[in-house]
Amino acid sequence: MGRGNIKVPAVFLDRDGTVIFDKTYLSLPQQVKLYAFCAESINRLHAAGFKIIIVTNQSGVARGMFTEKNLMVVNKKFVSLLKNAGAKIDGFYYCPHAESDECNCRKPKVGMVLQGAKDFNIDLKKSYTVGDSVRDYLLGVNMGGKGILVLTGHGKKQQSKMIDEKIKPMAVCKTLKQAVSLIIKDAKKLKCY
Ligand SMILES: [Zn+2]
Repeated sequence: MGRGNIKVPAVFLDRDGTVIFDKTYLSLPQQVKLYAFCAESINRLHAAGFKIIIVTNQSGVARGMFTEKNLMVVNKKFVSLLKNAGAKIDGFYYCPHAESDECNCRKPKVGMVLQGAKDFNIDLKKSYTVGDSVRDYLLGVNMGGKGILVLTGHGKKQQSKMIDEKIKPMAVCKTLKQAVSLIIKDAKKLKCY
């Protein structure tokens, strides 16, 4: 196609507490509920040239709370709700491990992001993460990009945890909606160089 070597930026979105309402060990499709701003936020990022990739820690699998099959059914529901709302995601990656498994994919480790970068030809330095956990913005820093903490889901609790962290997020935003506006502004600034 001729454009294969051009790397694109991405926004790596956390799922629970960021694009859908948080539910501890969410495992049933009927538990999936999109935030009202979810579809619009994703569409704005797409229009600005970003790939949208979900990266989610799902240690409930390792803990035996649900199976990877449950996870797939939930994801199918998530994608269909988004489709009904007029939006779509480009990729979806999950880490099924527990902390004790010492895998390379559990956020803030970069395994899922590296796989996404390979699959979608992504420039990680021009990419962002958005999530309701310290782990999510640390992921953005660890991958060489930027991370934003949102105050939905566990965000408010995580904000007090953030104070003890040496590494801070690019910003703390009320919701994904505000994070998206900030990302689009920030990316425009980068293009000027
Ligand atoms: Zn993992």
